[in-house]
Amino acid sequence: MEKVLLAVVDSRKRGGWPIEEIAEELGRLVVSCGGEVVGTVICRLDKPTPNYLITKGKVEELCERCATEDIDTVIFSHDLKGNQQRNLEEVLKKKTIDRTQLILDIFAKHAKSQEGKMQVELAQLEYLLPRLVGHGVELSRLGGGIGTLGPGETKLEVDRRRISQRIDKLRKSLEGVSQSRQLKRKKRKELKVPSVSMVGYTNAGKSTLLNALTNAEQPARDGLFTTLDPLSRQLVLPNHQKIVLCDTVGFMYELPHHLIESFKATFEEVLEADLLLHVLDVSNPKFRHLNDAVLGVLKEIGTNGQKVITVFNKIDKLKDKIWLKDLLESFPNSVCISALTGENMPSLLQRIQDFLSHAFTKIDIKIPLSRMDLVAMIHKEGQIHKKEYSDEEIHIVASVPIKIAEKLKNQFPFLSE
Ligand code: GDP
Ligand code: MG
Repeated sequence: MEKVLLAVVDSRKRGGWPIEEIAEELGRLVVSCGGEVVGTVICRLDKPTPNYLITKGKVEELCERCATEDIDTVIFSHDLKGNQQRNLEEVLKKKTIDRTQLILDIFAKHAKSQEGKMQVELAQLEYLLPRLVGHGVELSRLGGGIGTLGPGETKLEVDRRRISQRIDKLRKSLEGVSQSRQLKRKKRKELKVPSVSMVGYTNAGKSTLLNALTNAEQPARDGLFTTLDPLSRQLVLPNHQKIVLCDTVGFMYELPHHLIESFKATFEEVLEADLLLHVLDVSNPKFRHLNDAVLGVLKEIGTNGQKVITVFNKIDKLKDKIWLKDLLESFPNSVCISALTGENMPSLLQRIQDFLSHAFTKIDIKIPLSRMDLVAMIHKEGQIHKKEYSDEEIHIVASVPIKIAEKLKNQFPFLSE
């Protein structure tokens, strides 16, 4: 097992997260990558230094530990510039990587679909490109282990131009994938199957919940990022309404921005969902921080306005459940469940059903032939149950989102149920 020393950088930019939690998360990431944390050095930092990021004193401390302890790799919690990484590696005489590289490694290990693999390769190359300036050979590192699961030795040796070309090609292919995904979603919309996406910190129990609700065979493991590729399954609600439930990539504290960019296709599913289930492991004492981390990522991908049901999971693990009542009151639209034992699942399904039925309303409307734009809008946003043409107008019975119904109400009188 690879022995890892964590260098946790305590700068002012950590969004109120206690430094111990940042260290702990980094440690969990290392473990899920197959490494073992043998020590942690907290490096307080007022201002990054150009050559080593951290202060000279801390570099010396790291050197000392690397020289005297059994350590294979040093992992920084903070992004390193190309020169900083090289300088550190030179003095520490150990493989030195940063958190982004570690995350990329984890993504690379767990990408299963072609799309997932392309997204990972794109992210890796984009990480690499700015670090390539003026350097070539040294990027193809010797040895294996954490942080070396790069886009492949041969690709690492190609020059910048070829990497740029590869990036362009990957971007185009991913756009293609994204288009075919959009097509699928459009079909789903035409059939008016609402989609519900699960989001949440990794290990919250999303895959377990998906399994419990749909019997899908999505591996659920104790570990980070067992799921990378989004997975969708159909589910029938108690009122017989069909919905599509999607599992998504696990979130984490401050997902590096360029990774969010690279994994956009994955997040599209989240963006376009009719409803989000935010799954939280309520047995984790730090769940409030995890909640903030996920909300931060959601905000970054632009889902502010979307409706969320907060699902407090793993209540079977709690000894004391009295405080849950207050918790449910303080989170609007929340529910407590155990995906493992099935406790309270009916009330989760009821919530989903209520939400979706409130989001749509039935309209019965006559639209003049001159307003085909409105017909197109109803087509696009809702589900048409009946469409009859006469000489001057079209009679439509449809289910549409409430906001669309209101728009139409302003222009035409109609009966609604
Ligand atoms: P994901 O990363 O959000 O997809 O999480 P998983 O579904 O893979 O679950 C992570 C771990 O938590 C697995 O070991 C699950 O068995 C466990 N788990 C999930 N839901 C529950 C629950 O309700 N109760 C308990 N005790 N464990 C759970
Ligand atoms: Mg999962």
